[in-house]
Amino acid sequence: MFSVINPATEEVVTTVPSTSLEQTDEAIARSHEALKTWREVTPGDRANLLRRFSDIVRAHEDELALLEVVNSGHTIGNARWEVNNIANVLQYYSGSPERLFGRQIPVPGGIDMTFKEPVGVVGVIVPWNFPMPIAGWGLAPALAAGCTVVLKPAEVTPLTAIRIGELALEAGIPENVLQVLPGKGSVVGQRFVDHELVRKVVFTGSTQVGQGIMEGCAKQIKAVTLELGGKSANIVFADSDLEKAAASAPGGVFDNAGQDCCARSRILVERKAYDRFMELLEPAVKNFVCGDPNDTKTDMGPLITKAQLESVKSFVPDGAPIAFQGTAPTGKGNWFPPTVLTGTEADRAYREEIFGPVVVVVPFEDEADAIRMANDSEYGLSGSIWTRDIGRGIRVARGVETGNLSVNSHSSVRYWTPFGGYKKSGLGRELGPDAVDAFTETKNVFISTED
Ligand code: NAD
Repeated sequence: MFSVINPATEEVVTTVPSTSLEQTDEAIARSHEALKTWREVTPGDRANLLRRFSDIVRAHEDELALLEVVNSGHTIGNARWEVNNIANVLQYYSGSPERLFGRQIPVPGGIDMTFKEPVGVVGVIVPWNFPMPIAGWGLAPALAAGCTVVLKPAEVTPLTAIRIGELALEAGIPENVLQVLPGKGSVVGQRFVDHELVRKVVFTGSTQVGQGIMEGCAKQIKAVTLELGGKSANIVFADSDLEKAAASAPGGVFDNAGQDCCARSRILVERKAYDRFMELLEPAVKNFVCGDPNDTKTDMGPLITKAQLESVKSFVPDGAPIAFQGTAPTGKGNWFPPTVLTGTEADRAYREEIFGPVVVVVPFEDEADAIRMANDSEYGLSGSIWTRDIGRGIRVARGVETGNLSVNSHSSVRYWTPFGGYKKSGLGRELGPDAVDAFTETKNVFISTED
């Protein structure tokens, strides 16, 4: 049993049974059995089922969003966006089964063609920071490809995933095609890695756990997608619209209380604009509302757990170079205010992923220096560039070693476009037009036309 705790109130919301090793094995066996029929469902029928699944999720927007508010402390505005994100992703990939084309390749002596076949049972392992979207980015393209899915939500945030599993059945997705197995990473998640019948693992979480998962998958030559940590840079040039850059910077890092793998947790500012930028940033940070997640005016809720709160606090010890801070509620709940640090490139807060509402602002000298600093990280997930010079925007975007960059915005995860990391931020890409291919094996068939 696992107690689900509301991070804003510390009240126990409910308890959820943890799936045992034996139950995980049974679920994987059922998933493997269901694969035989699911892969044979005609493309048009599979597309229709995914569309119905999307519609039913969207019809439950209120219920799912409120569930995420109490389970994860997400603001109600974000939680509604998250429901719509999984509904949109299901809708987007419902277009795939009917377009899962192979190729006809010219060869001598016959006809050659390729088929895209489902890899098999897919294990999706989800972290606690975006329970609904991240579940959707794995399960939707997998189901579209004809795979069956066993999905493990994070221990502390199982509620929306469990409900989405029920809604799949209501939509007519056949039994055991999508199974949600709440439980421990070391038991359920590890079993996805170790079990021979799971042919692909989609993991989103910390770099450390991801490394272990890749090692485990290597033993069985099992396919793996890893979406891991980040320490993304928000690069602000002096020629940019500084007002806009400063006004949007808090949202780029403090959204979801900074518990975002794409958080722009390092702001690099061209030295000649540094003082002006800080002047503009201060009111933007102080006006970033941290408070009751049910209030539509709230920008940011609490941290997910007490342990996460303690971890974030360790980056802001007594005497830390705080430039300015917003406010946060006191009393019950895992609250930490939006915090801006100055400092140097050697600081722990500048180098390590904090996964909380803390950002470090450091000056740079010129374009080359900005690229060097952005790349001086073991991570490479996301980032932003603010400039009015479009040539510079493109040069810097091409120079920064990360998977997702935006110029004059903080956009990064759009389901129409590929998402994933360089370096220790991950392996493989999710979303975008090619995601379904990653859940298929290519089969090549040659037919002789000789007498
Ligand atoms: P985590 O690695 O502790 O856990 C992630 C998931 O893995 C959980 O479901 C957990 O139960 C499971 N798990 C733990 N040990 C396991 C094991 N041995 N085998 C299989 N599964 C196991 O990460 P977290 O603390 O839940 O999430 C925060 C991290 O996720 C951050 O580092 C963040 O950057 C990263 N993240 C990355 C992305 C991305 O897309 N790149 C998105 C969101 C979060």
